[in-house]
Amino acid sequence: MADVFAEFVNGAKQEPPAHPLDQPVATWTEREVLDGAEVEAGVAILRTRGCYWSIREGCAMCGYFNDTVPGGVSTEALLAQWAQVMRHLDGKRYAKIYTSGSFLDPTEVPLDFAAQAMAEMHAAGVEKVLVESLPEFVHARHMDYGAAPALEVAIGLESATPLVLDKCVNKRLKWDGFTRSCANARDAGASVKAYVLLKPPFLNEAQAIDDAVASVERAAPHVDKVSINPVNVQRHTVVERLWKRGEWSAPWLWSVAEVLRRTADCGVRVYSDPTGGGTQRGAHNCGTCDRTLLDGLTAHRLGGGMPAAACDCRGRWKALLAQGGVRRDGAEPHGYRRGFRAGRGF
Ligand code: SF4
Ligand SMILES: [Zn+2]
Repeated sequence: MADVFAEFVNGAKQEPPAHPLDQPVATWTEREVLDGAEVEAGVAILRTRGCYWSIREGCAMCGYFNDTVPGGVSTEALLAQWAQVMRHLDGKRYAKIYTSGSFLDPTEVPLDFAAQAMAEMHAAGVEKVLVESLPEFVHARHMDYGAAPALEVAIGLESATPLVLDKCVNKRLKWDGFTRSCANARDAGASVKAYVLLKPPFLNEAQAIDDAVASVERAAPHVDKVSINPVNVQRHTVVERLWKRGEWSAPWLWSVAEVLRRTADCGVRVYSDPTGGGTQRGAHNCGTCDRTLLDGLTAHRLGGGMPAAACDCRGRWKALLAQGGVRRDGAEPHGYRRGFRAGRGF
């Protein structure tokens, strides 16, 4: 069965288009919290070979391979990208340096380059830097940079339920491997952020909420914060195929708020910044209350209270949760969230 799912994942993928090797994928700024204060963080995605797991099989929802260079990127090209990133980080105290894989995988991001990047950020006054990694690369020897900003390692746990990880996400992550990597990061002086998915394929809305809540509660003792990542539709993925067939819909924003409400006392910061929020490809509600809830999520992420809104669609969301057992998992009729207004007639 795992092979069939792996074939489904690989069959959805396409060769990435040609990309300029000396340009980062993207740079932007976003509001963040550093030592309890709001700051403007500098964010960059470096163009690399990408995630080794994606080259083999990959995760059902992950379209990061679209931004990668299959043959890999030379250190010279990475340095050319980095020069642009450093200009972007001018005056920033918090940096987030993503790749489309694992920053701590030395076959994707060479250690010499990583050490130089850390030294330059440190010299430029960056106080904290976030990087992402699969657990298998979280070792002190991959974080031995010398002069560097304080390190934050983000690890994609996705779900603490083995069945969900294997059959819904296609990620070969073992719980012991996750907790060991959290301990390794902390032993090396880094803080740890976990990503937890909301609504991977084949779960209905209610199951998805329960699984995200259970995953946060199980992960909380091992990490410093948790980001809830509502699954969104990325190009050439299993999720996109299911979505186009009407067999999966992105989670509701009410579900995101519900996970935050139910994990508020878990002992660590839990928040969400939904990618593509308010669009059909991202977490969304009826269209009328989306902006209010998204603004509420941003305010909550920056230290405010729980997101809230008053809208009729909450009743439809509640009905959907109650009907989980009689619907095709993860899907709902076209137009349901809007109450079938301005949609197809049923
Ligand atoms: S989600 Fe992470 S581990 Fe999975 S394929 Fe994407 S980059 Fe790799
Ligand atoms: Zn609404």
